[in-house]
Order: sequence, then structure tokens, then C-alpha cells
Amino acid sequence: MSTIKSAVSGVVWPALAEGRAAQLLALLWQFGQTERWPAEWLLRHQLQQLSLVIEHARRTSPFYRTRLDAAGDPGGGSLTMAQLRELPLLSRRDIQDAGATLRSSAIPAQFGAVHENRTSGATGQPVQVWRTELDALLWQANTLRDHEWHRRDQSLKLAAIRALAPGVADPPQGISGAGWGAASEAVRATGPSALLSLNADVATQATWLRNHAPGYLLTYPSNLAALLAHVARSGERIPGLRAVLTVGETVGPVLRAACRATLGVAIEDVYSSQELGYIALQCPVSGEYHVMAESVLVEVLDAAGNPCAAGETGRLVVSSLHNFATPLIRYELRDFATVGTPCACGRTLPTLARIAGRERNMVRLPDGTTHWPLVGFHRFREIAPVRQYQLIQHTLHAVEVRLVCDRALSNAEEAQLGAVIRDALGYPFELRFVYFERELPRARNGKFEEFVCAVG
Ligand SMILES: [Zn+2]
Repeated sequence: MSTIKSAVSGVVWPALAEGRAAQLLALLWQFGQTERWPAEWLLRHQLQQLSLVIEHARRTSPFYRTRLDAAGDPGGGSLTMAQLRELPLLSRRDIQDAGATLRSSAIPAQFGAVHENRTSGATGQPVQVWRTELDALLWQANTLRDHEWHRRDQSLKLAAIRALAPGVADPPQGISGAGWGAASEAVRATGPSALLSLNADVATQATWLRNHAPGYLLTYPSNLAALLAHVARSGERIPGLRAVLTVGETVGPVLRAACRATLGVAIEDVYSSQELGYIALQCPVSGEYHVMAESVLVEVLDAAGNPCAAGETGRLVVSSLHNFATPLIRYELRDFATVGTPCACGRTLPTLARIAGRERNMVRLPDGTTHWPLVGFHRFREIAPVRQYQLIQHTLHAVEVRLVCDRALSNAEEAQLGAVIRDALGYPFELRFVYFERELPRARNGKFEEFVCAVG
């Protein structure tokens, strides 16, 4: 195991931390306490903190001054859940329209340097959010918390395959790093890391992984699926691998089972967004997701805007508890989640049983209803040598089926695949098959979605 770095020469144990490391360790220690607080304590502290954000937003952001005055600003340092629910939701569209008026004109100096965060989003609706050094500190503290929860041995090698700017960590070599990144390295002497661009094909990725033999692999679920299919075919192994860490897309039960069967290790997922940082971490005991209640307040709302009960699926609305640069109050993420029940692990942080995905991943039917595509696409390979697929709904009646296959498919195979697809989508869509040579295109941010509804 890696040890905590000491800032005092002559003392290696117990370590005496200073500066950034001391702040991170202090937050981590508090998280260890607060994640087991009674739920009502947690909520009370969240609301107390959020009321400071609301007060700051009303005073220093022109957008919020108008909006909160109109809503009868609860303000005054006390905020109840009922009052919070009276405030309007903040959509991506609102952020775009508000432009610079959303930003605070008086960010407290103690929050540190301000950084711009521009998120593209797969639907091409970019938003601009500013975050401070303090948001970065909380982001790093939650990164360390994720490692702690899953008891990762940070003395091992961490390998990551991610979407990167052209020319960075290009295949076949990628690049090597001395440590696990800023958060871990501030606190511990860690093992090395290796980074490879996602533009490497899966065979190159598999060779690269075998050469590095990392303790942990971090990548996107869709890339992992392609990698697992390759490894299953080639029979290669990645010696010494302890777990696969996933980010950026939703993880389904089929992928979890495939990872265990093929690589012999589990997936440990996180749910985050560029605008908000960590929103939830997968629980090491139940596999459900615990909300990072010390940095965000999460609401799950039904179609009428009322809170969902345990077991119900609704839209995620998230308030940032510490963004004093671009206050995000009741921000609609356009992701859906199922509310969980109290977790067996003893942590009292709110639980999401499942992150269901994005609104654009729902099928739209001619009668105006929407639903999630049923699982069933994994049966494709029982019918034909399909390596990769993506379905794009262009109209209420037509769906494009994009495929990468080992060989040309027969009409009979197309018809069989069509039956599985119509079954999963719950409607007799007109299907248009389009074949790709090597790999299906991804969004600019590296994300890949199996089903995209592009009906305007
Ligand atoms: Zn748990």
C-alpha cells in the first residue's frame, strides 16, 4: 500500500501533512463522518450551505437577482426543502440565454482562481460554466474518497484510455506518468500511470494493456464493451488487473457481467458531469450509487415536478453547494435516475438505485409517449457477427441501424436483427441498415450512445 506523504523531514510516520494535502485529508476525514450522519442532519447542512449560495447569487449575479426576486427569494440564511422546490429549474437553455449575466461579479478571494468549463454535450448544446479552485478541491477530495471506498491499492499502476486532444497519448505507445494524478499525488506516494488515446483501435488497446499490466483500468463503458469483445475472442488476459473504473456513460448489467466473465474483475463506476463534478459514486457494497451530498443536493422529480419515491424513476435536478462563480441552483441535467432505498453498507448518503441515462436515449413513439429501449441488443451476436451497433431515431417512424460487422450480412440476418430491434423499441419502426468499415463515430467528447433519439 502507498503511504501518506509527510511534509516534515525526519518524520515519516505518522505523516504530518501541510497545505493542499492537509486540506484534502481534512475533507476526507469529514466525509467519513458525514456519510454516516442521520439523513435529516445531512439535509439540514445541505440546505444551510445552499442558502449561502442562493444569497450570494441574488447579490452578485444579475440573472439570479431577477429570477429570485420574481420567485420570492427565501434568502436570509434559512432555507427549507419546500422553499427550494418553489425556485424555478435552471435548464441548459437558460444558461445559454443568460450568458455572462449568470456569473457572479464578486467571487470571494478565498475561493481561489476561476476557470472556465465549456461543455459540449452530445446534442451540441454547449454551456459555459465557471468554477473556482475550491470546486477543484472538492472534486479532488471526492476522487480520493472513491479510491478509499473501493480500497484501491494506489501503489499499483493506473492505466487510462480516454478521449484526448489529437496528438496527445497517441497509439501505439501512449504516454507514461509518474503518479495517479493531482489528487492522489498531493497526499500519497503512488504508483505510476499510463495514458492512451481513445483513437487506438481495440487490438492496439489490448496489446498496450498487456504490456503495462496495470492494477486498474479507467475508461468509458462503450470502449470497455468493445475491448471485452476483443479480449473474449482473442483469449488474451490482462495479468494483475484488480478492477475497471468507468466514467462518462451509463453502465448496464450486461456490461458488468461481461467484465466479470472476461476479465475476472468488477466495474466500479462514478457518475459525474463537467459542470458539477462528482454527483454520485458506486457503493462498494450494494453497487448502487451514493450521492456526494457534501458537494451537491440532488432531487429526482417526476413529470409534474414532484419528488419521486423510492423505486420511481425521474429527472435529476442538481444544485451545487459551492460554486460561487456560476451558481447552479436546481440545474436540470437531463439525466434520469431511479431513487434507491437505505443502503446495506450503513452509509446514509442518498442512494440512486440506477442511473437510467439521458432523455435523448429514450425512444419516442408516434402517440407522444417515450420509454427506454429494452435490453435485448446483446442478442445481436447470436444472430450475426455484429461487432458494434448504434441506433438513431430520425423520425417518429424511422430508425437508422448503424453496424460494424465481420462480414456482409444476409437479408435473412438483417430481418432477424430487425425483429429484435423492433421488439426492444416497442414499435414497428422502418429500419435502415447502414454499415461501417471499422468503428462507429463518437461524439467529440469521446462519448458513445447505443440509442440516440434525434427527433426534433
Ligand atoms: Zn452503500
